[in-house]
Amino acid sequence: MKTIGLIGGMSWESSSHYYRLINELVRDRLGGYHSAPSVMVSVDFAEIEGYQRGGNWEAASKRLVETAQQLERANVDFIVLCTNTLHKIADDIIDAVDLPFLHIADATADAIRATGMKTVGLLGTRFTMREDFYKGRLSEQHGLKVLVPDDDGQRMVDDVIFTELVQGIISEQSRQAYLEQINQLAERGAEGVILGCTEIGMLIEPQHSPIPTF
Ligand code: GLU
Repeated sequence: MKTIGLIGGMSWESSSHYYRLINELVRDRLGGYHSAPSVMVSVDFAEIEGYQRGGNWEAASKRLVETAQQLERANVDFIVLCTNTLHKIADDIIDAVDLPFLHIADATADAIRATGMKTVGLLGTRFTMREDFYKGRLSEQHGLKVLVPDDDGQRMVDDVIFTELVQGIISEQSRQAYLEQINQLAERGAEGVILGCTEIGMLIEPQHSPIPTF
């Protein structure tokens, strides 16, 4: 089996879900005692969050390129970056290491297109909802129409990520607020919704949402 290289820690709450999900999928597919060979390099999220808040993407990129190089030295077969937001600097990682990089927007687009959907909502950090590194790739490279919440909705979604979810806090009130945003996206034509921040899956599970989640 191939060895997966995981860049984690943004936040560790979400990385632990990745680790569990990957192993559950391998167990379900292969059965028996099978689990997933992997190496995770997990960063200190306080450092990364500071770079994000200060707009210091160069420092964030330098730090993540170092983690990718650590994975390369550990002889992994390919790299997964366990956060949507830091895909903003994905090209720096792709350029710095000689390993395949599984881009989170491509994997998400493949799953959406397999259902035949054309219009989807997107929830994530303010960076992911506002900027083009994720939305743009979905529309330009995969032909999907992507809807995001209005400004107030984006502010609420982002606040809940940073003040609750990355700290492992799950609140029913925030779940209802997120569901309201998902309903509004559905009314505007979204056939499904991308939980485009790895921690949102802790708050919204498929059974909560009126439309399919990705
Ligand atoms: N894990 C998050 C994401 O998927 C957000 C935390 C971060 O800002 O990196 O975007």
